Amino acid sequence: MLGGAHIIFSNGLASNLTSNPISGFILGALTHHLVDALPHIDLNILNKKTKGEEFNLYQLPLKIQIIVLLELILGIFFAFYFFVYLNNKNIALVTSIMLGSITPDILTMFFSKQISKYELGKKYLNFHKNFHFKLKSFNKNYIILIALIELFILFLSLAFFKASLKFI
Ligand SMILES: [Zn+2]
Repeated sequence: MLGGAHIIFSNGLASNLTSNPISGFILGALTHHLVDALPHIDLNILNKKTKGEEFNLYQLPLKIQIIVLLELILGIFFAFYFFVYLNNKNIALVTSIMLGSITPDILTMFFSKQISKYELGKKYLNFHKNFHFKLKSFNKNYIILIALIELFILFLSLAFFKASLKFI
């Protein structure tokens, strides 16, 4: 998923499970990997043949960089509106889940050189990449199907949030 979807999904799952910003950050990062394993649209959205570094934002066409940025801004805006404004969640909690939920991708996209100097860091980067859902056979119908599944997953995370408001 792109950043905005990660932010919404992680807040949907985690913002009722804790009120502590630190555990919120950790839950945000953990749920990132959960959703990476589900079918979703990713950085290879317009790039039909992604070979090698699908994570490297700088190597992607400007069109994709703009989509990534706009989707991120939209996700941040939606998360603050939905969780903080409509559902009175603490702004520090929502922000820390937000940061946690995009940290794995920020580490992988911008700091992979530094991290891979360490054995544990290398293991983590591989774990993240292997966990990532990849679009194999790429055609237009398939993208629409995956986009619908992603929207459904996002909807489920918000439904989970609404349901867990009452119980937790
Ligand atoms: Zn990821």
